[in-house]
Amino acid sequence: MDRSSRRCIVCGEERAVGIAIWDQFICHPCEQEMVNTDVLDEKYPFFIKQMRQIWLKQNA
Ligand SMILES: [Zn+2]
Repeated sequence: MDRSSRRCIVCGEERAVGIAIWDQFICHPCEQEMVNTDVLDEKYPFFIKQMRQIWLKQNA
């Protein structure tokens, strides 16, 4: 696997910069968007859904 870029679980883009949560990857733009997303924002449930997929994988 190419360590210089990973596929973001949120947007599906392959990016070099981002954060790794367990064995998953979230690119920097998505991370920033997530951090800046208000809980009332319509995108928030989408992020939660994506994060829950990670948790479910970890607990499987
Ligand atoms: Zn992304």
